[in-house]
Amino acid sequence: MSALVLDGKTLAAQTEAELTQRVAALKEKNGGQAPILATILVGGDPASATYVKMKQNACQRIGMDSTKVEMSEDTTTEELLEKIHELNANPNCHGILLQHPVPSQIDERACFDAIALEKDVDGVTCLGFGRMAMDEEAYGSATPQGIMRMLEAYNIEMSGKHAVVVGRSPILGKPMALMLLNANATVTICHSKTQNLPSLIKQADILVGAVGRPEFIKAEWIKDGAVVVDAGYHPGGVGDIELEPLLERASAYTPVPGGVGPMTINTLILQSVAAAEKSFGVK
Ligand code: NAP
Repeated sequence: MSALVLDGKTLAAQTEAELTQRVAALKEKNGGQAPILATILVGGDPASATYVKMKQNACQRIGMDSTKVEMSEDTTTEELLEKIHELNANPNCHGILLQHPVPSQIDERACFDAIALEKDVDGVTCLGFGRMAMDEEAYGSATPQGIMRMLEAYNIEMSGKHAVVVGRSPILGKPMALMLLNANATVTICHSKTQNLPSLIKQADILVGAVGRPEFIKAEWIKDGAVVVDAGYHPGGVGDIELEPLLERASAYTPVPGGVGPMTINTLILQSVAAAEKSFGVK
């Protein structure tokens, strides 16, 4: 039987239609003022510039505004912190996105953690992470939160299932594992020092690949009927998992492209609208 396609592109488009209405309602209540996401891009990395542009375009599609902050490659930690403090204090900024990665001279963790919790719509602060881990209200890290939204939308059973997450980065693997744990999955986290990776992956009812290496996870390591989530995206349109042989064997999978990617940006704008609603006192 063909595997169910976890279609992030369609789900994101549906959510955008709902968000457009929520933004219109907010504007009506607030004398035409739209929610505003501030995007901060430090340096000239072309891939980061493209991601920021895609996020601004998504804001525009649902009627939100975005403020573009661009800082030079030689920006210091202090200069970036000052900009973040300024945006925290600005009542006309409802969410802050600091595009990762920043140039190496900057203390990225300090800058992420300077973002006010109520404006941390990309879910990057330690405080937000800790709250999420404790199952308290917080904006989740956008990529794993987008994956959870997709699994929930397709009614993928998580409770009691063995979820294996390959990757433990602060913005993806680690929060992913805790979100799955909060959904009552039994979670194994794998990383570059893990031994016997294929045998651990073989046990996965739900597999999340977040490694950053093209088709690193081989189809033959994955058992029949698994739910396969591929967070990777590489030139040539492949992800971190060898997907092609799984199209008949998995029970469900995220296509690359069109699976996890659209859900990440969609989650950022969803959380930005929610932050604006709170700030305007609507929710
Ligand atoms: P990252 O920070 O580079 O982390 C990669 C993780 O993979 C690390 O935890 C690393 O382990 C682990 N790893 C590396 N080699 C391994 C190996 N041989 N065996 C097992 N684990 C290994 O990457 P990331 O930011 O989490 O991104 C992961 C993937 O998701 C990338 O393909 C990226 O493009 C994609 N991504 C997609 C989106 C989206 O919106 N779709 C957003 C973010 C990222 P150690 O911790 O031991 O080094």
